Amino acid sequence: MDIQTLEHAHTAQTYARFPTALVRGEGVYAWDEQGKPYLDFTSGIGVNSLGWCDAQWCAAVSAQAAQLQHTSNLYYTRPAAELAQTLAEKSGLSAVFFGNSGAEANECAIKTARKYSRDRYGAHRHTILTLDQSFHGRTVTTLSATAQAQYHQHFFPFTEGFDSVPANDIAALQARLAQGGVCALMLEIVQGEGGLNLLDGAYLAEAQRLCREHDVLLLIDEVQTGIGRTGQMFAFQHFDLSPDIITLAKGLGGGLPIGAAVFGARCRDTLGRGDHGSTFGGNPVCCAGANAVLARLDAAFLAEVRRKGEALQAALRGLPNVRAVSGLGLMVGAELADGIAAGEVAEAARQRGLLLLTAKHKLRFLPPLIISEQEINEGVAILREVLADLHRA
Ligand SMILES: *Cc1c(COP(=O)(O)O)cnc(C)c1O
Repeated sequence: MDIQTLEHAHTAQTYARFPTALVRGEGVYAWDEQGKPYLDFTSGIGVNSLGWCDAQWCAAVSAQAAQLQHTSNLYYTRPAAELAQTLAEKSGLSAVFFGNSGAEANECAIKTARKYSRDRYGAHRHTILTLDQSFHGRTVTTLSATAQAQYHQHFFPFTEGFDSVPANDIAALQARLAQGGVCALMLEIVQGEGGLNLLDGAYLAEAQRLCREHDVLLLIDEVQTGIGRTGQMFAFQHFDLSPDIITLAKGLGGGLPIGAAVFGARCRDTLGRGDHGSTFGGNPVCCAGANAVLARLDAAFLAEVRRKGEALQAALRGLPNVRAVSGLGLMVGAELADGIAAGEVAEAARQRGLLLLTAKHKLRFLPPLIISEQEINEGVAILREVLADLHRA
């Protein structure tokens, strides 16, 4: 039985998949069952930071799997302890809790913010403020944090204690904080799922100042923007910010499931023994993968990501039917001319051997961080043909 037929038989149909079954990958290319190659501008949604099956990453992961695959958190392991140290060093924050996904990392941040506030101010100061068009995950609580009506339809009752304000609107934030009851502001520096919307520096600086003034924790969701994606190790490092918690997942493990909440000094001891846990959290194989990723992301690598990101944006600006381009580093969105559906463009590109993502009505580009400028141009050339064809049709 072919893979697609087999999948339809007994897999819950929660995904609108492209009609392609991938069987192997190498660098920035993946191959389907028929041996057709695809140039990858998706990284498995920002996950495969080093591309497909990087040699050093494979060696680190295989060696760890062969040595010790899981211990539970009843015991210490070196890969997790070293990863926590590296993340603290690179972020300037203080301590790490490991989970398995972005949603879980955000759940941990939310629990921490609520306990921080309750410890100091008692009950009823539990609201987490998020921004319109945000995306923070698919658990019931992180859906509450996700301020997009399309996600709030089927699963009532949602977790209470969430509210949202428009992005880049300091007056709205100020007014909401003045009403009281808020324990944290949670935001993405570049909204990924929400459509590649950037927060501006002036807004971020003022938001941080307001948070300090009200002793409201600043939580930055770096699940998509973190681990070099925007050309800094963490997107907040493009600005003069010191968040209280950042959350990580997608690109961290280079293809293995791992999430992390990284705490700053103010809340590093908020969660104590028994307050939180995760069976798989800090799994040594996943941590070995993450350590292999972080070992490669030095200053020169990050400078290359910034340079390649600018090259990608410039190339996209020259395409027919592209109205606007936004993004940071290798996290880029392209808005298309009226009447052109991003999903149809992504499907046409797939047929021509280019894997693309969408976000809302935009095309989204999250290529592996190791992509070369030549490979970027190769992908953009395929997209140019697709967009030119649509124009003629
Ligand atoms: C993908 C994403 C999440 C959710 O991550 P999962 O690993 O799917 O739970 C949360 N926040 C942001 C910003 C994301 O992009």
